[in-house]
Amino acid sequence: MTARILDGKKLAAEILDHTREEVDLFRERTGSVPGLSTVLVGDDPASEVYVAGKRRKATAAGMADFHQHLPATATESEVAAMLEELAADSRVSGILLQLPLPGYLDAASLVERIPAHKDVDGLTTASAGLLGRKLPGLRPCTPQGVVELLDAAAIDVAGRRAVVVGRSMLVGAPLAQMLTHRDATVTLAHSRTKDLVGVTRSADILVAAAGVSGLITAAHVAEGTVVVDVGIHRTPDGLVGDVRFDEARERASWITPVPGGVGPLTIAMVLRNTVQAAQYAAD
Ligand code: NAD
Repeated sequence: MTARILDGKKLAAEILDHTREEVDLFRERTGSVPGLSTVLVGDDPASEVYVAGKRRKATAAGMADFHQHLPATATESEVAAMLEELAADSRVSGILLQLPLPGYLDAASLVERIPAHKDVDGLTTASAGLLGRKLPGLRPCTPQGVVELLDAAAIDVAGRRAVVVGRSMLVGAPLAQMLTHRDATVTLAHSRTKDLVGVTRSADILVAAAGVSGLITAAHVAEGTVVVDVGIHRTPDGLVGDVRFDEARERASWITPVPGGVGPLTIAMVLRNTVQAAQYAAD
């Protein structure tokens, strides 16, 4: 079997078009547009690229751009003060603190300065609580992107076995909850999991989010599995994921490429969350 491709680039473009229409409707209804404030601290080149991409797409969707760039020397109280200012600014619908922060800053405590209704990355404790309780709220973008990709291909997870490799607060843990809410039977594997091959081979849907290049080989993939690769690794030959694509695609029924799989969806979900945040504020 050669897998069909879960095309994140195409789906993200469709979501961007839809978001643009929602921004127009919002403008007609309220006289203002949703505003996104990305907050970058320091000069990490990868973060600069990610932030530039989010700002470009937000502007293309018709949103207002309230980007803030603080120097690598910014103190914790300066970053906190900036976040509080943005929290109080009614023009700013969504705040996105780009991670990782320089090592001397306490990222976990700074993220908590973002109020849940502006937390477009869905990373605060309050947002995590809303997800855990299945209450309305802003969801973490990458897991939400994975779910969108599955939905777009009409892959129903209900009653099926999903294995998520990686339990980070950013990706694996919230994704396991989202899939559980959709009635999948979920196993959350991690660095201490024994017999990873045995675990992943039981999956109908396998999501790799371990941050280990090439971790998932053909041996990890049972015939017909849906394989979603969240991993991103820069190599001299370009971006690769956690999955050995050429091997896995011969066994999988569906597979995401890297690049062009989950990555574009993450940005699309930031935009969708920003519109949702603006709607919360307007209502
Ligand atoms: P993380 O380092 O915070 O978490 C990694 C998780 O994987 C941990 O729970 C760890 O226990 C588990 N793990 C590590 N090694 C393992 C192994 N050998 N076997 C099984 N489990 C293992 O990483 P993260 O922030 O969740 O990111 C994971 C990957 O996803 C990274 O490559 C990151 O670049 C990528 N990422 C992509 C997007 C996107 O938009 N596509 C967004 C966020 C993160």
